[in-house]
Amino acid sequence: MFTSGEKPGKGTYKCKKCGKEITLENDSQELPSCPVCGHNKWDKIN
Ligand SMILES: [Zn+2]
Repeated sequence: MFTSGEKPGKGTYKCKKCGKEITLENDSQELPSCPVCGHNKWDKIN
């Protein structure tokens, strides 16, 4: 599990609360808060 503000690296992440999927394009991009529900915990799915 990852938290908003971390830089967990390139890949696709899924919001633990609503299931929204986002993609980080590079290793220096921070995980945002979820744009749908505002939650800040993510699972890496890809
Ligand atoms: Zn969400």
